[in-house]
Amino acid sequence: MPARCVSVTGAAGQIAYALVFRLAAGELFGTNQPIRLRLIDLPDMLPAVEAVRMEIEDANCPLVEEILVTSDLSIGFQESTLFFLIGSKPRNAGMERRDLLRQNGPIFVTQGKALEQWASQEARVIVVGNPCNTNCLIAASHAPRLPKENFISLMRLDENRARSLLARKAGVPLSSVSPVAIFGNHSSTMVPDFLHATIDHRPVIEVIPDRRWLEEEFFSLVQQRGAAILQKRGKSSAASAAAAALQTAKHLFFPSKEEFSAGIFSLGNPYGIDQNLIFSFPCKWQEGQRQIIRDLELDPFLSTKIRLSERELQEERACVEDFLHAQL
Ligand code: NAD
Repeated sequence: MPARCVSVTGAAGQIAYALVFRLAAGELFGTNQPIRLRLIDLPDMLPAVEAVRMEIEDANCPLVEEILVTSDLSIGFQESTLFFLIGSKPRNAGMERRDLLRQNGPIFVTQGKALEQWASQEARVIVVGNPCNTNCLIAASHAPRLPKENFISLMRLDENRARSLLARKAGVPLSSVSPVAIFGNHSSTMVPDFLHATIDHRPVIEVIPDRRWLEEEFFSLVQQRGAAILQKRGKSSAASAAAAALQTAKHLFFPSKEEFSAGIFSLGNPYGIDQNLIFSFPCKWQEGQRQIIRDLELDPFLSTKIRLSERELQEERACVEDFLHAQL
């Protein structure tokens, strides 16, 4: 079987460290599928990436045919059909979101151009580096040769967080909770849709009949989960982000009945959201195509929150307008 080739940027970082061993073990493509890894980071970080390569070699991963360590995208982006764009600069204390956008935008201009030049047309691109939705928009705008639907920003971690928080509150196992749609931005404005989620096939609101808790505490717990982990661990979430990135890749390569949230192009969306954003919607596979789940009736509370998240993404887009290349 020919090997699958996967590129990972930010390969010296902590999310990549949690991700690449799982890829190497065959968790995504299966335990019969050989894999080649392109591990990419900044030139100064290449010794650390070399160490990751040595550890993969030492971890007894017979599926791994090749590990390439590079900071040169013309090497690292060739042949891959899956790109995890994780590499980005962290937000420093006191830094505004706008500053982060301006700081990381150019990374995704460069990577978008490299995708345009080197990536195969079937390539799927999962943007993890924050602010991931707008970074994804930037990258896609520089790679018009690739289908727009193959650009995704990571929202599955937020969905996983919402599910586990509901399970905990209801005192039920995680498997009792349905997928929880996340609308909007991967930020503190994201909207976890508790209206359509179920616990043991009953509406959440029936099992947790406390609308105030759902609207206020639950919202804030989901939106602030990343910050809470950062505060306790001193580092941002990595293993859970890697797990969610893998799950997202599985959704893209192996259609199933499972519903999932993903940051995707908003073009043609049925919720009246601005048509040129990377926006999180609940998705599912139908008739061989990934589609936005339509027909969810949103009440005034959720609709208002979704509009706020849309506005934030519009502001983010305006802030990086000069980084956006082509009209999408
Ligand atoms: P990290 O600081 O441990 O690693 C980031 C790595 O990216 C570093 O090794 C750095 O050298 C590298 N890098 C920086 N610029 C690069 C470039 N131009 N090309 C290639 N590599 C580059 O960070 P981490 O914890 O692995 O997190 C990575 C990103 O993921 C952050 O932006 C973080 O906010 C984001 N994140 C997103 C989610 C999500 O759900 N979307 C969840 C968690 C973290």
